[in-house]
Amino acid sequence: MAKMKKAEVKPFKEMLLALRSRLRGDVSTLADAALSGKHGSGSSGVSNHMADMGSDTFEQNNTLMLMKNEGETLSQIEGALERINDGVYGSCAECSGKIPKMRLKVMPYTPFCVKCQSEKEASLS
Ligand SMILES: [Zn+2]
Repeated sequence: MAKMKKAEVKPFKEMLLALRSRLRGDVSTLADAALSGKHGSGSSGVSNHMADMGSDTFEQNNTLMLMKNEGETLSQIEGALERINDGVYGSCAECSGKIPKMRLKVMPYTPFCVKCQSEKEASLS
């Protein structure tokens, strides 16, 4: 079992909490979004400084997913917060492998490693 230290988990927890309040439509974040422009997609603010390997695509997918499946994302966020409480955040819910931090920075709510996620997506389509 790959476990993350509390200090390592903390920034992800904060991201999850921020995402959750954004999805829930908290007044202040809604106002923020309105002020920062409707067609700017670069304002998600979480991972723009990440390494250059494909994180842009990841982030775009992420933003799209946020808009398309808000309800589902919200429940994934809740699940991730539970895993943080259980001390198992950062390991794949399918194979118990370690989820790379780079992936968590883009999708902090994902319960799966890249491999399991793509297997799931492949079996869906
Ligand atoms: Zn896995």
